[in-house]
Amino acid sequence: MINSKDANITDDGYIEIAGWVHEIRDLGGIRFLLVRTRDDIIQVTFSKRKVSGELIEKVKTISRESVIHVKGRISKDERAPNGFEVIPNIVDILSVAESPLPLDPTDKVVAELDTRLDNRFLDMRRPKVKSIFMIRGLVVRAIRDFLYGKNFVEVTTPKIVATATEGGTALFPISYFDREAFLNQSPQLYKQILMSSGFERVLEIGPIFRAEEHSTRKHLNEATSIDVEVSYVDDSEVMKLLEELIIYIYEYINVNADKYLKTIGIDLKIPTRPFRQISYEEAIEIVDLKWGDDFGSLEEKKLGNEIGEHYFIKEWPLKLKPYYTMPLEKKGKTEILSKSFDLMHPRVELASGSQRINDYALLKKQMELRGLNPDNFSFYLDAFRYGMPPHAGWGLGLDRLVMTMLDLDNVREAVMFPRDRRRLIP
Ligand code: ATP
Ligand code: MG
Repeated sequence: MINSKDANITDDGYIEIAGWVHEIRDLGGIRFLLVRTRDDIIQVTFSKRKVSGELIEKVKTISRESVIHVKGRISKDERAPNGFEVIPNIVDILSVAESPLPLDPTDKVVAELDTRLDNRFLDMRRPKVKSIFMIRGLVVRAIRDFLYGKNFVEVTTPKIVATATEGGTALFPISYFDREAFLNQSPQLYKQILMSSGFERVLEIGPIFRAEEHSTRKHLNEATSIDVEVSYVDDSEVMKLLEELIIYIYEYINVNADKYLKTIGIDLKIPTRPFRQISYEEAIEIVDLKWGDDFGSLEEKKLGNEIGEHYFIKEWPLKLKPYYTMPLEKKGKTEILSKSFDLMHPRVELASGSQRINDYALLKKQMELRGLNPDNFSFYLDAFRYGMPPHAGWGLGLDRLVMTMLDLDNVREAVMFPRDRRRLIP
């Protein structure tokens, strides 16, 4: 593959590139093609003095967004996008683009998000949009880098399952031969089972499916979750791990994605450590909620404005968290708390985690208290009967992480082909 990065710029000043005709500028006797490679925009100049009539004729009627291959000589020119232009010797037209284009990849016309998503292949040709996904790729790389460095093993668990993780109703049913099955809403139960198998530190990066009918700027029906589970640690230790990971990602992107950040126009500020930790009780006081209420978008916004940086809300009432969450008894408190936390960005929740119950009898009891039938979960519960280490973990939403890092308005902007209630195509 040829792009400007690995384009051979030889000692004698020759370059080879391939890409899309981004813009065509005609100045009478001279014609400029701006060629967009994956990472750059390079000016190819066709002047009668320096280029053969045959080549000039070849590109005379070329349409924008056609794909071409160019070999030529580099010539310094301050006015060109990278400070140089290419004087072509060879031009091959590899694919002719139809016109008019359904969407303009030059950022000159701003289209609605829906139109952009309908024509996502073209939308992602726009340098600003492409940069989001180049960064998203690097975020995943940073996560692997960091966690592999801490001896995590990456796993993949089934997305087709027989029962709901949390017994909720927000599941997509699918037909599985002659049975009903579901798309998994979280790898939670499987990553816990892996603790009983002795994997000790697992990482999964994969899709989660939620059949919730909301249409908000932060919910998708198919999201990507970064899931981590660790044996022999408690909630506070996995909070620390999560905080370190977030900082690592920001630093990694600042160093390795500088070019893409500039294209988007983002000055990425590293969050301040340590992240503030407030208890659920303190948080409800700030936003005037009653004990037992959950935070809605309005309260999350108010808290975010108050705190202004990444923060944790911890020690949630047990009843607001899933059945597998470890209860926490605190002196002087009648309410039952839990060893749980949410990582919040001022705009939105990024992650939820906790220490998990590892006692079989207690886990079974908590399920029953929530009206779930343990018999439906024996594949999970059995893993607690024959030696289950204490463990803790979290799930971090990749889409929301990228949205908040890059200050995107809508989580859909951080996903190549988002799935929401209305959108199943492309
Ligand atoms: P919320 O209350 O904001 O809907 P949640 O508490 O239901 O989120 P969890 O089950 O805690 O979500 O999932 C862990 C993380 O996965 C969330 O903090 C979020 O970053 C991400 N996530 C969960 N559901 C979605 C979704 N529908 N769309 C995008 N990201 C999601
Ligand atoms: Mg949550």
